[in-house]
Amino acid sequence: MKIGFVSLGCPKNLVDTEVMMGLLAARGHELTPNASDAEALVVNTCSFIDPAKQESVNTSLEMAGYKKRGRARKLIVAGCLVERYRQEIRREIPEVDAVVGTNELEQIVALCENGATDARELVPSPEPYLYHELTPRLRATPRHLAYVKIAEGCDHPCSFCVIPQFRGRFRSRKFESVVAESRRLFAEGVQEINLIGQDTTCFGEDYGLKDGLALLLERLAKLENAGWVRFLYAYPNKITQKLLDTVAAHETLCKYIDLPLQHASAPVLKRMKRGGSGDIFLRLLERIRRTIPGVALRSSFIVGFPCETERDFQDLCDFVQEARLDHLGVFAYSDEETSVSYHLDGKVDGRTIYNRKRRLLALQRWISRARGREKAGQVFPILIEGPSQETELLWEGRLMGQAAEIDGKTYINDCEGPPPEPGSIRRVRITESMDYDLVGTLLPGPAPRRRPTPDLLRVLR
Ligand code: SF4
Repeated sequence: MKIGFVSLGCPKNLVDTEVMMGLLAARGHELTPNASDAEALVVNTCSFIDPAKQESVNTSLEMAGYKKRGRARKLIVAGCLVERYRQEIRREIPEVDAVVGTNELEQIVALCENGATDARELVPSPEPYLYHELTPRLRATPRHLAYVKIAEGCDHPCSFCVIPQFRGRFRSRKFESVVAESRRLFAEGVQEINLIGQDTTCFGEDYGLKDGLALLLERLAKLENAGWVRFLYAYPNKITQKLLDTVAAHETLCKYIDLPLQHASAPVLKRMKRGGSGDIFLRLLERIRRTIPGVALRSSFIVGFPCETERDFQDLCDFVQEARLDHLGVFAYSDEETSVSYHLDGKVDGRTIYNRKRRLLALQRWISRARGREKAGQVFPILIEGPSQETELLWEGRLMGQAAEIDGKTYINDCEGPPPEPGSIRRVRITESMDYDLVGTLLPGPAPRRRPTPDLLRVLR
């Protein structure tokens, strides 16, 4: 069959899509990027907040249109929306022929090939699923970039979050399985691996490993042909000194820490069941910056959480002003009916939430531009992505401090030495900064490789 996929939501969901595509390709099915050409269409959905749920339903209905005007005979809905609303989807969207949940990915083959309408008919009580290094996987990212899921699920009790309800309890992949997959990816020419999970900083804890993420990073940094390694979704109070020292010690480990803080007002963080405060987080950021010179910091915040007062919001703004993060995401609180916070009083009205989101993003835009200006004249390693989508006059790339998809990028408008090649790592001198993006001149020769100093290695032993 010719099968088409739409992958919504986060990189963790993208890896699930790549696994489903890999399983189908291994059975000889052809993957097509054209929905009108596909005989079966699969929409891998997201459902952690309202806008994501709406997008998942709209996209599924849009793909259903191809059953009338295309070659599609089957529409399959997969992923997090199925985990939350399996019966509702089957009842209320008759265009959907079959559903498959996040622990039933391997059933995608049977659902495409035969008439089953629900993966649960095939596996009534599926085990928590997590792929491994031998699982067929068809990567949808550019050749030089790969996401590696190192864990699934989450045990944290954040009161606004429903992810543990459908992604299940925290479970890590086997250490050597991640190493084997990463070794193969680097051998295939991948230049940047992003380690992902709901919380990467818990890696290995479930099988008794202490500082598992630091040990994994150290191991990956020593692999042959090792390219950049970045990890996303660090839980603030799980960031250890060993983890920071490890990132500082190895040149190929991205000088980049993504730690979703969610808020900075202690009363709000308490009601979120996350703990901490603006002062505690400022000390953490200071320790990170002291240990990893030039580190880029990304975080994300929720505005409009029940009982968030104007004072609380101002505390958050003061924190963001002082923290001067490189990258920041802001989410409007989404009142999920199965979350603990759904039952809290003091709900904030929609207009106030909207205005607070707009005000916080406006504040960060200034900070982001100022952070960019500080890089003017400096030289950095850059991973070349390719010709710019905006104009053929420019090429695009990313510094270690710029993660794919979520952060700004670096435009190359001048080149000294050989022309750029997609997937190569070169050096760039920053010449200009914009709100979120940078501009620079590509310099001759590859980025210099710096070996870890004996002092740094001694710290690690
Ligand atoms: S850490 Fe909190 S916000 Fe993140 S997935 Fe787990 S419960 Fe949700």
